Amino acid sequence: MTHEPIELVIFDCDGVLVDSERIYCRVDREVFASLGAEFTEEEVVEYFVGSSHAMLTTIVEERRGRPLGPDWQAPFKQRYEDALDAELTAVEGVTDVLDALHVPYCLASNGSHASIRKNLGRTGLLDRFEGRVFSARDVSRGKPAPDLFLHAAATMGVPPERCAVVEDSPYGVQAARAAGMRAFGYCGGLTRADRLMGPHTVVFDDMRELVGLLVT
Ligand SMILES: [Mg+2]
Repeated sequence: MTHEPIELVIFDCDGVLVDSERIYCRVDREVFASLGAEFTEEEVVEYFVGSSHAMLTTIVEERRGRPLGPDWQAPFKQRYEDALDAELTAVEGVTDVLDALHVPYCLASNGSHASIRKNLGRTGLLDRFEGRVFSARDVSRGKPAPDLFLHAAATMGVPPERCAVVEDSPYGVQAARAAGMRAFGYCGGLTRADRLMGPHTVVFDDMRELVGLLVT
């Protein structure tokens, strides 16, 4: 099968650039349990890795059997910040990938601009993405809808069929496919390979392989 050449690489942030998902998942379990919503480790990965704030809120409300207030996460923000300050690192191999890429790249995340910037800053990646950060808050629907990737590609001036999306969550690869882009599903973190597989998708488990995969 022949492909259009890749002219833009769109990176997800959490679990792709920064190794934050294992930290979020651990703190999520503690926080949700304190709200009366118990989840197993597997369920947390299944339901919350790559999820938008709205999806996450719905699932936690269903599990605890009663609604959450409008700013229910606020009392727990510092707990996440402290864990990220102490533990967050870049995903292994990803700085080498960014150094080696010969096409423009940008970032598109379901997170807020503030959290994206903090996590890039914590891992020394912020300078590389300055002016090329897109948040789900910039569009009406986050992933798994295609809106965010289409917005990023249009702003960068590249047609969807010439974009590659690097994602670690089922929602993310779904969004890439819905946008008509090629998906590269990274399963070196928490998400199992079979959860990322699908049409127009290459699944890989070592970030250092990415540059080679993009040209095949
Ligand atoms: Mg992710």
